[in-house]
Formats: sequence, structure tokens, C-alpha cells
Amino acid sequence: MKIAFIGLGNMGGPMARNLAAAGREVKGFDPAAPAPEGVQAATSATEAVAGAEVVVTMLPNGAILRQVAQEIVPAMAAGAVLCDCSTVDVESARAVAAEAQAAGLGALDAPVSGGVGGAAAGTLTFMVGGSDAAFATVRPLFEIMGQKAVHCGGPGAGQAAKICNNMILGVTMIATCEAFALADKLGLDRQKMFDVVSTSSGYSWSMNAYCPAPGVGPTSPADNGYKPGFAAELMLKDLRLSQQAAEDADADTPMGRLAAQLYETFVEAEGGRGRDFSAMLPRFETRGRS
Ligand code: NAD
Repeated sequence: MKIAFIGLGNMGGPMARNLAAAGREVKGFDPAAPAPEGVQAATSATEAVAGAEVVVTMLPNGAILRQVAQEIVPAMAAGAVLCDCSTVDVESARAVAAEAQAAGLGALDAPVSGGVGGAAAGTLTFMVGGSDAAFATVRPLFEIMGQKAVHCGGPGAGQAAKICNNMILGVTMIATCEAFALADKLGLDRQKMFDVVSTSSGYSWSMNAYCPAPGVGPTSPADNGYKPGFAAELMLKDLRLSQQAAEDADADTPMGRLAAQLYETFVEAEGGRGRDFSAMLPRFETRGRS
């Protein structure tokens, strides 16, 4: 199976490398990032997609995805599948799928969870929207790049799952950080706090797997000076996507809205840009009230 890979950044680079390492023929294009080992560099996106059976995109946002889709869809081989793995708004995912389908192509939105570590190790989780046939075509590639692929429904369903998941993540991280800061003020030892909450009803991935308190719980970015990891501005991007989706769908998401506001202030006014999203804990330590 010939594969084209458009967007070879922090995530796309290692994903494309894993496909090539598994023996697939991969042609990649990125105007800024180099092609990783085993991936043949193309000089344009249209050159990369010519003759490919699956085209994977891993791009910064929905506007760029729409631009790239306009360029590559007419150049793709009949019956090929366009599989976008970027995190983008549901509307862009659906618009690109419709454009591809109108041109006789298959289309999937397949955002990922697992970060750059999961991309490098080939242990990503894919949340996938699109047809059964397109999912079946790309499934062997999901198995190389990840450990799990959930077919969530039709076009946009993968992005819907991704932004709902990350809205929960943003909210639970803030709740975990503010609870640690409260525990500090109440004189409770952080290790004791972790021991109780991680095995009680307040547990979550934010507490148990990615504890924001340094020296407590499993190793996490908190133990590395809050170097990302998952940068606060990327969390803000995802929370904005979930709020945009909530507005479009007329859904009531007050906790998601507040989380988006807190991360916006953190990133834009409180020095959070470039820090891990769990650095909300030192933010709560230094702010008694907000
Ligand atoms: P990145 O900025 O490292 O990579 C994006 C790449 O796209 C860049 O190399 C850029 O040069 C390239 N690009 C931009 N315009 C292009 C074009 N017109 N044609 C071809 N390439 C183009 O970002 P990343 O961390 O790899 O993230 C990619 C996507 O994955 C984003 O949507 C992000 O939200 C999502 N994501 C990231 C993580 C993470 O931990 N980094 C985790 C899950 C999901």
C-alpha cells in the first residue's frame, strides 16, 4: 500500500517514520519539517499524494487542513482515502469529508490521544469518524501507529470524541490542581492527598497518571519543571474547539467554558505558554483567589 503523509511535525514525523519502519512505502511533504528516516521527501503535497492509496494529514488546525484538502483532493487517485489525524473543529472535519466524498474518495477524521511519546512509540489511540469501508482500508495503518482505534461513527465523530475527552481532561486537571492548592492551605501532606484521592472517588487520569504535584505519583511533567508534555496552549486550543462545538450544537457546557477561560488567562497573561498544562498547580499556589 502506497501512503502519502502531509505534515511531518512533532506528531506526524514519528507517525510517518513508524509506517516506513513497518515496510510501507511512504512519501511525505512538509514545507518546514524534514522527512524522517525511511520516508521519501516530496517537493509538494500534490506530488506526495499522486498514486497513494491512503493520504494521512497531521496539520496544526482546521483552516490549514481545509487549504491542504483543496489542493490535494483533485490530485488523489480514484478510490483513495484521505485520513486526517489532526485535531480540528468538527465543522472543518465534516466539510473536508464532504469534499473528498464528492470527488469519489474515502474520508476519515482520526484524531489521536497519546502525545509525542505515543506517536514515537506507536501506541496512539485513534478516534475515528467516517464510513466502514474507509475505516477498514486504514485500520492496518492505525495498528502500526497506535494500539487502539475506535470507530466512533460517521464524519466528524472522531473529532467530537476527541474534544469531549479533552474537555473532561482540562476540567479534571484544573479541579485536581485547585484541590492540591486547597489541601496545602489546610496543612494536608501532598503524598497523603495523592494516596487518598488516587484510590477514592476523586480519582482521574489527571491525578493518577499525570499527577500535577512534583514528587508525587508516577513520573510526569511536574517532575521535569513542567516542561511539556502537553503544552497549556494546546489544551487551550482543544477547549476552544469544544466551546465552539458546544455553541454550534447549542449544548450547555459551563465547566468547559470556565476551563477555557482559566487556560486562556493562564496562557495569555500568567506565563503559562510553553509550560505543561499541569502547571496550573503552581498557578493556584501563587494565586490565593481568582
Ligand atoms: P507541529 O506544529 O509540530 O506539526 C504540524 C506540521 O504541519 C508542521 O511541521 C508544519 O510545517 C506542517 N504544515 C503546516 N502547513 C502545512 C501545509 N500546508 N502542508 C504541509 N505541512 C504543513 O504540530 P504537532 O504537535 O505535530 O500537532 C499536529 C496535530 O496533532 C495538531 O492538530 C495537534 O492539535 C494534534 N495533536 C498534538 C498532540 C501533541 O502532543 N503534540 C497530541 C495530540 C494531537
